[in-house]
Amino acid sequence: MKLIIHGGFFSESDQSQETKTAKQQALKDIAASSYEYLKNHSAEETAVFAVSQLEDNELFNAGTGSQIQSDGKIRMSAALMNGVNSRFSGVINVQNIKNPIQVAQVLMKEDDRVLGDDGAKKYASENGFADYSPETPQRRQEYEEKKKNGGKGTVGCVVIDAQGRLAAATSTGGKGFERVGRISDSATVAGNFANEFCAVSCTGVGEDIVSNGTATKIVTRVTDGKSLEEAFTKTFEELKAIDGFSGAIAIDNQGNIYHQDSHPTMVFASFDGTSFEVFE
Ligand code: ASP
Repeated sequence: MKLIIHGGFFSESDQSQETKTAKQQALKDIAASSYEYLKNHSAEETAVFAVSQLEDNELFNAGTGSQIQSDGKIRMSAALMNGVNSRFSGVINVQNIKNPIQVAQVLMKEDDRVLGDDGAKKYASENGFADYSPETPQRRQEYEEKKKNGGKGTVGCVVIDAQGRLAAATSTGGKGFERVGRISDSATVAGNFANEFCAVSCTGVGEDIVSNGTATKIVTRVTDGKSLEEAFTKTFEELKAIDGFSGAIAIDNQGNIYHQDSHPTMVFASFDGTSFEVFE
């Protein structure tokens, strides 16, 4: 059993040591509580549990504390993939709910598993998700000040459970100040992908992640026999060739974990029951 979570990149508008330390501590706490949860739950359930906690922490750009788009509204995206049955579910640009990743989880049982905009909100309401404003004063201030580099800070989790099952979950408030209608990578297979061999969650500039097909490529390379390191090295070389900005975390079915980022400011934490690895 093992898991690794990420909290996106450090905000370019707030590089203070205080914020870095607070994010690292939050990741450490969430990795520990999620590992406890993993003892009695599946990889899929644990990925949702971990990402829900990250969504609820306003330090991160997902759920509460999501960034505001150019028209002053918050639209969130999240996806879940179960490595056992290769099912992918997600919501794209959903408004006014607390935990987009939990809607993705409920969607797993549906034929129509990726919903957008009003349809996603309607489905959430029909399934008991209350109206909730994810806006925080900090994000409103950033928006008002038009700090366009408000910071990339998507969250994600990849897990292997006691039965060796893999899952990946990713949730985001987007890039901030984006055009209405813009689609994030987080609820696509470029940003979140898993099968029986490997699970990957990405963060960074969504357009770069989609252009590079990052999560799917890494998983495919591991499926075809490459090590995580080889798969990441090749995929990030390809990202560099398009001058891309992103990072990813991964776990394989042997319990190996790996992470890499194009810019060294990504925050992540892993836990295997005895030792933590936290980005310093
Ligand atoms: N990948 C997200 C997006 O482009 C942003 C992020 O990772 O912070 O929507």
